[in-house]
Amino acid sequence: MAKLLTDFSRLCIHTITTKPWSLEECLSNYRKAGVPAVTVWRQWLEPQGLEASARMLQDSGLRVTSLCRGGFFPAVSEDGRNHALDDNRRAIAEAHAIGAPLIVLVCGAVPGMPLSEARKQIAEGIAAVLPEARAAGVKLSIEALHPMFSDARSAVNSLTDANDMAAELDDDHVGVTVDVYHVWWDSRLEAEIRRAGRRILSFHVCDWRTPTRDLLNDRGLMGEGCIDIRGIRSWVEKAGFTGDIEVEIFSDAWWATDQHAFVEKIKAAYLAHC
Ligand code: ZN
Repeated sequence: MAKLLTDFSRLCIHTITTKPWSLEECLSNYRKAGVPAVTVWRQWLEPQGLEASARMLQDSGLRVTSLCRGGFFPAVSEDGRNHALDDNRRAIAEAHAIGAPLIVLVCGAVPGMPLSEARKQIAEGIAAVLPEARAAGVKLSIEALHPMFSDARSAVNSLTDANDMAAELDDDHVGVTVDVYHVWWDSRLEAEIRRAGRRILSFHVCDWRTPTRDLLNDRGLMGEGCIDIRGIRSWVEKAGFTGDIEVEIFSDAWWATDQHAFVEKIKAAYLAHC
């Protein structure tokens, strides 16, 4: 078992977790709540622009854990694939500007495209933007998504897939993200976490509600569901991961509540269940 978390020094919250808040509100409210780190979703950079966002993040004193998200590489046309590469290059520049050490990749899938073809295009896409990532000092982290998203969001659907791709690319700027929501069900998970080892760049937590009322926006607060979050944390830490524990909850239900109270619930759940 992992040692209990007794303080918030590794707690990171994704801006999308408190979706009703602007970047400025996220930063000031996280800081007031004693949350030391943030993962920034790209939409939160848009309203005030990159430069102002970067300044805001720097002034906040919060640690930027990562930028979410790049990826979506596969497309039916060459134009589409090039468009995706450009978007990923923009994401790399954004990550660099805000001081994010890594970008989480939601790799993409196209309904009707064989998953093997999508995976081939994903690996090619990552390889194509790797020189820019390396030059910017930004790592690219392949996040496996639950198989229910293999139609349109990601053809990388298990940590095995993510590890295979990272091993194939074999670059110190490519790693994997372990998100408990996507991988908790996998009987190979412990072995694949061990195999990922130092390639684990980030660790995302939330919970799996029963029943799940919406495929996308019904993630639970830690403790609301059936995921053995602390057990999975013990595996990633045994594999050498010491980074932030990132709370990433898409939830129409939680977004409808008072976000200050929600952040306090996140802190309590973090200590009790992570
Ligand atoms: Zn995630």
